[in-house]
Amino acid sequence: MTDCIFCKIVNKRIPAHIVHQDDAVTAFRDINPQAPTHILIVPNQHIGGAAQLTRDHGAMLASLYTTAARLAETDGIAESGYRLVINEGPDAGQSVFHLHLHLLGGRRLGWPPG
Ligand code: AMP
Repeated sequence: MTDCIFCKIVNKRIPAHIVHQDDAVTAFRDINPQAPTHILIVPNQHIGGAAQLTRDHGAMLASLYTTAARLAETDGIAESGYRLVINEGPDAGQSVFHLHLHLLGGRRLGWPPG
């Protein structure tokens, strides 16, 4: 999608601190981190959000989550723990309409979330 900021990051048309990229997903550090580790993992293909997912996205979703687990290892937070979050819609505060999984860790995370 031409005007999607995360599509532009995937296609290297705008800069980002990319920590992983493969055929299915791209991971980069959040520009406004909410924890010492705050990485976004996104599908390379444009999908507006969780509500647009279908069963055909199963392999891509597995890549999102396995990439998050690997990045938690490399960022040194696998043992201490981390949170994986997808915000969907206004009440969840979704602000970018390209599916993204937040990987948050490196500090004690409150529950329930605010
Ligand atoms: P959400 O509120 O779940 O839609 O999350 C969107 C996230 O994208 C926020 O945490 C933003 O800080 C982050 N973000 C927005 N623009 C950029 C960017 N250019 N590079 C990295 N992260 C971004």
